[in-house]
Amino acid sequence: MPLINTQYDSIMREYARRQAQSRQELEERLARIHREIPQLLSLEEAITACQAGKVRAAVSQDTMQRNALENRLQELLKNREALLSEHGLSPSDLEPIYTCPDCQDTGYIGDRKCHCFLQAEIDLLYHQSHLKEVLEKENFHTFSYAWYEGEDREIMRRNVMDARLFIESFDTSFQNLLFLGAVGTGKTFLSNCIAKELMNSCHSVVYLTAFQLFELLSRAAFGGERQAQSYQQTYPYIFDCDLLIIDDLGTELPNSFTVSQFFLCVNERILRKKSTLISSNLDMEALRNIYSERTLSRIISCYTIRQLPGNDIRIKKKLS
Ligand SMILES: [Zn+2]
Repeated sequence: MPLINTQYDSIMREYARRQAQSRQELEERLARIHREIPQLLSLEEAITACQAGKVRAAVSQDTMQRNALENRLQELLKNREALLSEHGLSPSDLEPIYTCPDCQDTGYIGDRKCHCFLQAEIDLLYHQSHLKEVLEKENFHTFSYAWYEGEDREIMRRNVMDARLFIESFDTSFQNLLFLGAVGTGKTFLSNCIAKELMNSCHSVVYLTAFQLFELLSRAAFGGERQAQSYQQTYPYIFDCDLLIIDDLGTELPNSFTVSQFFLCVNERILRKKSTLISSNLDMEALRNIYSERTLSRIISCYTIRQLPGNDIRIKKKLS
């Protein structure tokens, strides 16, 4: 779906803010470094003069002069590196630090939107700007086995290993996951761990509860034209994002619309080889009864299904 102007402007404003911030940080850092190492300035002037001389030599096709200046430049760069190193610094300390080094916080690589722009678009369209804050708290670093006891802990270790394998082979093999388990067994937490890792490695992630998903699909379905085309125009990333997470399947009010839409969503993403992660409090039998045999057979053949063990961790956390 094309962003409306105000949405596009708000994303571009954020890039402008990041650029201004990284420029200001760099200026402050350089001022500090130059105060600490005054002799760095003359070395940098010599490097700039050398680089300019190289350009002039290239324009006048003076190869000998160009090679001489290249050698001189390498020598100066080495000297600068040694000088910085004496003060516990490296050449990268003289460069800006970007939130996204790939596009240097411009949002574009050439005339193509950067992956960070696509994720910003997704965050805006699917109202998931809060997701980053959640993922700061719920990720593999904060995951704890302490809430699982005995055999449950071993089962959870295997589930975490599977989750890590899912992430590691995400770009090389098409996989989907279904997490089953009672309320509060850590399904959403584990889904968040996966979301965080994949977003960190520049993949686009849409995170929706089943309720939100069906709400969006129903809005798109009544948008006219051919259904799939209408979805594509209204909520393109539901079918196209690298990972779609559908949390809490079964908590929505099921009806013939949600059942048919769920099949469409599962099937369409399988056809496009786009990964989906579903979590549900229901067991397989209940899922089959609600979402039909044909949907379940697609899931059984294309998803890795994992049962999360244990009782409600949220209650244990409150009691501890
Ligand atoms: Zn970027």
